[in-house]
Amino acid sequence: MGVVGAGRVGAVLASALRAAGHSIVGASAVSQDSRDRVDALLPGVPVLEVPDVVERAELVLLTVPDDALAGLVQGIADTGGWQAGQIVVHTAGRFGTDVLAPAQRAGAIPVALHPAMTFTGTSIDLARLVGCPFAVTAPAPVLPIGQALVVEIGGEPVALPEAARPLYHAALAHGANHLVTLVTQAMRVLGRAGVDEPGLYLGPLLTAALDGTLRDGELALTGPVLRGDAGTVAEHVATLAEIAAEDAGLSDLPPAYRTLARVTTQRAWSAGRLTDSSAQLLLDAVSEAPAVDVPARPAADDDAAQPAPSPVLVRTRADLREVLDRQRGTRAVVMTMGALHEGHLDLVREARRRADHVVVTIFVNPLQFAPGEDLEAYPRDLEADLAKVAGVGADVVFAPDPQTMYPNGDPRVRVDPGPVASVLEGGTRPTHFAGVLTVVLKLLHLTRPHVALFGHKDAQQLALVRAMVRDLDVDVEVVGVPIRREADGLAMSSRNAYLSDADRSAALALSAAFKAARAAAGGGVEQVLAAARERLAAEPGVRLDYLELVDPGTMEPVPAGASGPSLLVVAAWVGTTRLIDNTILDLWKDE
Ligand code: AMP
Repeated sequence: MGVVGAGRVGAVLASALRAAGHSIVGASAVSQDSRDRVDALLPGVPVLEVPDVVERAELVLLTVPDDALAGLVQGIADTGGWQAGQIVVHTAGRFGTDVLAPAQRAGAIPVALHPAMTFTGTSIDLARLVGCPFAVTAPAPVLPIGQALVVEIGGEPVALPEAARPLYHAALAHGANHLVTLVTQAMRVLGRAGVDEPGLYLGPLLTAALDGTLRDGELALTGPVLRGDAGTVAEHVATLAEIAAEDAGLSDLPPAYRTLARVTTQRAWSAGRLTDSSAQLLLDAVSEAPAVDVPARPAADDDAAQPAPSPVLVRTRADLREVLDRQRGTRAVVMTMGALHEGHLDLVREARRRADHVVVTIFVNPLQFAPGEDLEAYPRDLEADLAKVAGVGADVVFAPDPQTMYPNGDPRVRVDPGPVASVLEGGTRPTHFAGVLTVVLKLLHLTRPHVALFGHKDAQQLALVRAMVRDLDVDVEVVGVPIRREADGLAMSSRNAYLSDADRSAALALSAAFKAARAAAGGGVEQVLAAARERLAAEPGVRLDYLELVDPGTMEPVPAGASGPSLLVVAAWVGTTRLIDNTILDLWKDE
């Protein structure tokens, strides 16, 4: 065999194959380091030009940088270098054997091997190859050749199809390379905290965490997120922001911590290990300093490589029934009024995680608008909505017109939403929730889902849907999804489209009031409300409708001495637009 590119990987693999009995006829080596490696690991093997290596070898090992591989294979083909029956092996992680097509056309046998290992380029690596997993990609008839080579090296072959290579390589890079970033971040912060040998200090803890994760997956998670300890997470975020402000060299820490805390929260919550309110509290804690928050991604970026399949659009009851009858497995529904944004798409993503099929309904429900409200003006853009939900994996969009939903005109029988519907939103919009629950119940009957997802953005609506499902024995699981905010803290809403530039900046007073309230959480109910009210009053562009601290289940005001999670809800007019928002606060009393 011959080696093209006696770098760290090439020299070590060739040395292992030589020990297994192959004779090495030559190696190409350009740099002095590579020549030294040939001397050390492949003593006696001549250093040759690439064409000479290829000419003399029955098996050619191509161990050049990933980016150089395609050009090299084509270049050798252009000069007629490849031979029929020659085995050509490369070790680039992200490629299968397609990259070897020019050699294959000349009759060569293509094999892609990738060791899941990092190399020092010294004899230390040889011992590590024993038992090391190798991905093997090759056309089926020659796959055994690749597998046999791996066994000779001492590794464990794992067959991997061509199409899976990019994903495989992304997984390895994410795990192994980003682990380095994560661990060194922890080391830098620990160094800043005054620990002299941060690596040594972290060793036992990180080794235990890694061992546990490799064995038990996400069940290995411990720590403040899993305990729902939002206060601690908020403190971490604040301290990291402080040191980053002092030392620009640490500015990568706050966004990384927040992103990982957010993802950790979402994963634990999706797995049912955190309650809705704990998850909401944690997400609020990591988005508290909005200036460095992770901006919302455009929907199109979500599944980058492949254009997502379009969802089926159905507009009639008959078409909906037909599509649903064909579905097998579980179904989730996300009900919306359209003009979709990332907040809606979060619901769809969560739906995707929880069920085999996802139905999104788009219907601006006249029944929940009172005369004089914005029924006619409400933004509608079905085409854009379809493109957005396609990007996050909805399979069906049900977009009926009012005639389809209410064929006999306004329904005579409606859901009575009970007392919770007459406070807060219901105080200002007395007929609103009867209209909401009536359409929700109708859509549950029409779509027959196992799971229905609603946003915490409309917390009172979520509480009422939960109460209806419980009190009327509707057979569906209701899942609440945390609020998605813009980078500056404004809760996403289709109605934000109504805001002028001046309104838009005045509207930030709502999330700013939450921040003030959170800072006052140790003072008890009255102080929290006073802090929030003061912040809102400071913004002349905002006219308050209501501001209350309520129990998230019953929507009743919490009593003066209350402690624990409670919901701060606000509704306010900004210009001619009425906005609502809420946040969970962890109330306690400084003694
Ligand atoms: P809408 O189209 O406004 O009726 O909203 C449809 C669903 O999306 C409801 O369950 C809302 O609570 C939810 N939703 C709206 N905005 C957000 C947001 N910013 N974050 C999370 N969920 C949201």
